[in-house]
Amino acid sequence: MPDLSRFSINTATLGHQASIHATIEAVAARGFGGIAPWRREIEGENVVKVAQHLRDAGLKVSGYCRSTYLPAASREAWRRNVEDNRRALRDAAVLEAACFVLVVGGLADGSKDLPDARAQVAEGIAALLPDAEALGVPLAIEPLHPMYAADRACVNTISQALELCSALDPQTSGFLGLAVDVYHTWWDPELSAMIARTAADNRLLAFHINDWLVPTTDLLMDRGMPGDGVIDLGRITRQVTDTGFAGLMELEVFSAKLWQLRPDEILESASLACASLASYTDT
Ligand code: ZN
Repeated sequence: MPDLSRFSINTATLGHQASIHATIEAVAARGFGGIAPWRREIEGENVVKVAQHLRDAGLKVSGYCRSTYLPAASREAWRRNVEDNRRALRDAAVLEAACFVLVVGGLADGSKDLPDARAQVAEGIAALLPDAEALGVPLAIEPLHPMYAADRACVNTISQALELCSALDPQTSGFLGLAVDVYHTWWDPELSAMIARTAADNRLLAFHINDWLVPTTDLLMDRGMPGDGVIDLGRITRQVTDTGFAGLMELEVFSAKLWQLRPDEILESASLACASLASYTDT
């Protein structure tokens, strides 16, 4: 069996078909080092029991997915979004998650004011940072590909996310950083320099892997397994490893095609894909 201890399975990859407890068993049985669960699988469960199950199975939590979008059409709604994220952060702490992933949200409903959305995001993260610190769960801002700026995230490049971190956390508390996902960032002419800077700034909290298919037929649900597309994953994974990144390489594949398969079939394919990258995680 290949050594997959440096890899984690984001449960979205499995299509949210099974309970969190069944998923923990299946992922651990394949030898993966961790898991990144989604709130839809955790909220409504006994979180303490889930955390115990994770420990018993020997799985780390590479991240907890994900924030409620921050920008809102009213102050009241913005406050509710912040509060919702506070609740999720408490669950992330129980799960001992390496980070809470911030997919920050795009334009507020009915708005065309992107600078305002970005200001609401900055203010929201500033409001959450003391909670993150008190709970011991770092916030990982995930820059999303610009095609999602309107509806999912108005933070779109690593550079922009790092600027936000510097502005909100100039002392580098250790509780604000980035989730770098190759799907969203592979095209960036500054990718290599920005990975280096993120690591040098001690802000690299999570690394998400998948592939960009050509042609891509759906903006959200057509990601590829590593190796099926055009991203130079070996090179990028090698760079991330060489920065000293101590976290897990998290496999996150949203794919309507993949989700036609059963979780055990998807995990089989995930094992092969991660095994093909394992040599790039050797230190
Ligand atoms: Zn991601």
